[in-house]
Amino acid sequence: MKTFFEINRLLAFAKARLGLNSYDVPFVRNSIIDALGLTTFEESEVEAPECDISVLLADFSAAAIEEGVFAAELAPYFCDKIMGMLSLRPSYLDGKFHEVYDKEGAAQATEWLYNYCVDNNYVKKAVLDKNPRFDGENGLVVTINLAKPEFRDPNKAKSGNAVAGGYPKCVICKDNEGFAPRGKFTLRTVSLRLGGKPWFWQFSPYGYFYQHGICVNTEHIPMHIDRETFVNLMDFVDAFPHYFIGCNACLERIGGSVLAHDHYQGGGEVLPLFKAKIKEEFTLPGYESLQMGILDWPGTVFRIVGTDREKIIEVCEKMRVCWVDYTDENLQIVCRDASGQHNSISPTVVKRNGKYEFNIILRSNVVSEEFPDGIFHAHPEFHVIKKESIGLIEAQGLFILPGRLVGQLAEVEKCIANKNLTEEYADFRLLFDEVTVLCKGDFSSENVHENMRKELADICYRILQNTAVFTDEQMKDYLEKMGFISK
Ligand SMILES: [Zn+2]
Repeated sequence: MKTFFEINRLLAFAKARLGLNSYDVPFVRNSIIDALGLTTFEESEVEAPECDISVLLADFSAAAIEEGVFAAELAPYFCDKIMGMLSLRPSYLDGKFHEVYDKEGAAQATEWLYNYCVDNNYVKKAVLDKNPRFDGENGLVVTINLAKPEFRDPNKAKSGNAVAGGYPKCVICKDNEGFAPRGKFTLRTVSLRLGGKPWFWQFSPYGYFYQHGICVNTEHIPMHIDRETFVNLMDFVDAFPHYFIGCNACLERIGGSVLAHDHYQGGGEVLPLFKAKIKEEFTLPGYESLQMGILDWPGTVFRIVGTDREKIIEVCEKMRVCWVDYTDENLQIVCRDASGQHNSISPTVVKRNGKYEFNIILRSNVVSEEFPDGIFHAHPEFHVIKKESIGLIEAQGLFILPGRLVGQLAEVEKCIANKNLTEEYADFRLLFDEVTVLCKGDFSSENVHENMRKELADICYRILQNTAVFTDEQMKDYLEKMGFISK
């Protein structure tokens, strides 16, 4: 059977790339034979394949379907199951990760783990590499995610993660490691300690940027931001100084999709926010050792830079407390009302030259009749591009746009070239008009496409401006009222 040959190739791959011990090969092979409902096998000598795991799995699936081992619709399930069998046990993998960390350093350890998760097919790198992505001239990065479902109703993101059976308690609980109904046979996590408590790290299967992962509290408790959060974030970048880490605002419509479980997001890419500079510095009496200021950024962001952990924690906590209790009805800022809390922050940190660089992003999820999805959310004219929550990653300048746009924008580009917006794409009037102007009379497909990208980056910038809770003037007023600067 060709299926046998493909299983031999997968075993050879696992020996070469997934740390499968030769002594375990017959045992793992027998587990695979049983999982596939086979009763015999033929061994053959094969070289360890050099190709991407996705190619091997496609070959394996094709052979197994052709030979009636499983039906085509079950191929993803069996691929996931077999890759789980070929991967190391979680405790062994965790031990190996910490061994690399101790011997070679943090960057080597995360690199090793990332490659492992690509090779065992948990991180779908081949899919990710197909996502369109470009840098805007305004400093923002735009990607179109072809793999992720779009939650057009921002309130649905939360219910989408509700778990009917109660086990695991949510989609990011440690109990998901190896859980078949959610396709988590291949999920592997590594342990770490933040603030003296057990946490774990895992890469995101459909990462939005280089080595995108989440850091999860081992205990299933709701997301929250307080003094402890700042301690944890600094502990993380102490352990992984080549990564950034941040915490989503823990409220609906402006934060993460899993509010029920305490977690952070981070990874190995310098996001646009970290490239922005302070545009106006201020100092706080007693905290002169820290550099502080308003960030030159379309959203409302403070930056705090320094080495003194205690002082940084105190300032971040002051900024958090001031904002979560702040109300200015003239500006439509209402910290809380009958529908709950509305003000929150997203803190995010990197370590550069031994200094912590904190960014505190002020967020509000307050709604009005005019803006039922949020006053400080993407305004309705931009919903055709982005209606989902503007979470931590977008607030830092990396926009993840829905996959449907690839087809839609290609059609709108044709309309622009033809100087006629068809009825079907009437929702794209704003883009049609603005790109037409940007083209300056040159409607070649290259020029239209180029200007469409400019337009997308520009709309993303305007969306970030929508999320800003203050203008520059209002920001100074706020800082004065809060005692951060004096008149
Ligand atoms: Zn959970």
